[in-house]
Parts: sequence; C-alpha cells; structure tokens
Amino acid sequence: GQTIGIIGGGQLGRMMALAAKAQGFRVAVLDPVEDSPCGQVADIKVIGAYDSMDAIKQLAEASDVITYEFENISAESLNWLCENAYVPQGSSVLSITQDRVSEKEAIVKAGAAVAPYSVIQSAEDIYDNIETLGFPSVLKTARGGYDGKGQFVIRNQNDIEEAKALLVHGTCVLEQFISFSKEISVIIFRNPNGETAVLPVGENIHQENILHQTIVPARISTQAEEKALEAAKQIAEAFGLVGTLAVEMFLGQDDEIYINELAPRPHNSGHYSIEACETSQFEQHVRAVCNWPLGSTELLKPAIMVNILGEHVAPLLEEIPSLADWKVHLYGKTEAKTKRKMGHVTLLHSNVEDALAEIEKSDIWAKAQEKIGG
Ligand code: ATP
Ligand code: MG
Ligand code: MG
Repeated sequence: GQTIGIIGGGQLGRMMALAAKAQGFRVAVLDPVEDSPCGQVADIKVIGAYDSMDAIKQLAEASDVITYEFENISAESLNWLCENAYVPQGSSVLSITQDRVSEKEAIVKAGAAVAPYSVIQSAEDIYDNIETLGFPSVLKTARGGYDGKGQFVIRNQNDIEEAKALLVHGTCVLEQFISFSKEISVIIFRNPNGETAVLPVGENIHQENILHQTIVPARISTQAEEKALEAAKQIAEAFGLVGTLAVEMFLGQDDEIYINELAPRPHNSGHYSIEACETSQFEQHVRAVCNWPLGSTELLKPAIMVNILGEHVAPLLEEIPSLADWKVHLYGKTEAKTKRKMGHVTLLHSNVEDALAEIEKSDIWAKAQEKIGG
C-alpha cells in the first residue's frame, strides 16, 4: 500500500494517522520524542528528530506522499522535501502562516479583515503605536507562539515595561484588543483538483488563552455564519490551499468578522467532527492531500467538545463510570502537566443548552481547580 509521511507525532498527527490507517495507508511519522502520541500507535514507523537532514531524508524515502501537523518545521527542511519528495500542500501556505506579519498581510490581500495592528521591532515602536491602537492591546511574538504563550496584554502605559521582554524573541505585532461577542472558527479543506469543503462553524470558548470548549452549531446569526464561511473560502482560494486551513475569527458586536490567526492543519476546534460529522477533519485532510474527492461534512448531531488538560485527567478518570454518553479521547501522553492538552471529550446532544448544563453539572472542572489551587 501507499505510505503517508507525517511531520509531527503529537495528538494531531496521531488522529491523522489513525484516519489514514483506516483508509488503508501505511504511516511514517517524524518526531523527536520516542514516546509521542503517534509512537504509541501500532505499526507506525517513527523517525526521530524534526530537522536533522538525515531524518528528513528517511521520511522522504519511506513516504509516497508527505503532510504535516507540526507547524514550525524549518523552511530549509520543507523546501528540501518539496524538491525531493511529493508534498502536495507545498511550502507557501505553511511559511506564510509561520509568521504573524506575513499571515496578516496575506489575509488582508485576500480581502478579509484583521484587528488593527502594527509591526513592532523595538520598545520605541510600542510607545509610538499604542496611542493609535488604544488600551488594551495585545503584543504577540510574530513566530512560534501557541496557547497564549508569547503574548502580553497591555492594559495601561505601565504594562509596556513588562511587555517589551517579548522583543527578545524578535519581531512582534501589536494588536488592538477586540471586544468580541464570540470567537468562532471555520475549518476548510481543498484538494489539488480545487474542490473545497468546510466544517460547520464552531463557537470557541477559551480559558486563559487555551481553547476550553467548542460548541457546534455556533450560536450566531445566519448572517454571521455566511460571512464567516465566505471569509474562509476567500482566504483558501487566494492561498491556492491544498489540505486543511483552520481560520480563527473574532465576531464583533455588529457581526463583523476579524480574522485572528490561521493554522494550515486540522485544528483543536475541529475535534468534534470525529463523532459529529459525516467526515471528520482528519479523514478529510487525508482525502484532500491525496486528491480524493472530499466527503460530506454534514453535522449529524449538535456537539460540544471540551479539552482535557493535565489537571483534568484524574477527575475525568474518576467520573468515567457515570459518563456513558461522553466520547473520551486521551492522546497517550504520560506526563499530565498542568495546562498541557492531554485529551478531549465530545458530547453529542440534540440540544446544545442541555449538553452544556450536563457538562456544568460534572465535578471535573471544580476538582481540577482545587487540584491546582486556583
Ligand atoms: P493558539 O495557536 O493555541 O490558538 P496563540 O498563542 O497563537 O494560540 P492567539 O490565538 O493569537 O494565540 O490568542 C489566544 C487567545 O487570546 C484568542 O483565542 C483570544 O481569546 C485572545 N486574543 C488574542 N488576540 C486578541 C485580540 N486582538 N483581541 C481579543 N482577544 C484576543
Ligand atoms: Mg496560534
Ligand atoms: Mg489561536
């Protein structure tokens, strides 16, 4: 059979690999960690290290087609793979989205809106731009941040002193803080034939900058939903997307859309699709990359996805005997560190409000709070 090579063996790689195996592919994975979420799945060939040229060459040799879940692969490695192996997604979308500056420029060029921002190289740049942007504003490193790491909310003049420490990581962007009514995301897929599909819009609730819940269908107006889907399509077309693009958005008070950021891969806010959609984001990603016709993304039932962080694992395991309807996913990570994404649960329910009430009733979140002394 054909072998799919995946760069990155974390939870996204694991769920991608499981989908690919179900579709009849063999899987090879590049990951420096031996005990990664992928490393625990039977019959996956795991190759160590992301960026040693040796490992990259091994992946190329083992694979008929190569994709990625890890976003911070070096341009050099990816370019080598593009020239010496079959990488249908190419390197341009990944390199655009690796940097918030090029990402924002490309979004605007595609005709979608972003929060007002300035590119920041020095403390002086912050002082020069903060007045126009106003308080609060968010300073973010241009590269490498995730789960709110690499950003700082500047609420007043005094915060600038502390925020400027981020500049040691290089170029930053200063963004106006949007007082959004909702955070939503659209996950869009496109195959080399130019066929596209989108998952239903997800409503995302973050806690301390980490995704906590995704609620589908999103509780937004039809107008907002149409605008969100349209913005994602515009960006995917402008990028000549192949594969998957997750588009994180803020919905303003009057249903205006600001694109927050992009991820060129399956996304945490699409995990609900494993049970709730006719085709999951992981199956669809494999279909798109392999230029198969895309499957229906129809929502079979309303769904709530809740992330399981390190502090939630023990209380979840205690409660499982009373949770017949919760679909439990644990990624096989051994160290349950606080705030680390360890798994997720999905609850399907004919009524989103009832499902939220059921989650609210469970002791998991309160017990976790006690545990970390919050
Ligand atoms: P990840 O990649 O894990 O989604 P990240 O570290 O790249 O996270 P962002 O998505 O930029 O971070 O921001 C994390 C969260 O912080 C957002 O989902 C939102 O809740 C809040 N946030 C970020 N920027 C803004 C903004 N300009 N206005 C309002 N809220 C913001
Ligand atoms: Mg991000
Ligand atoms: Mg984000």
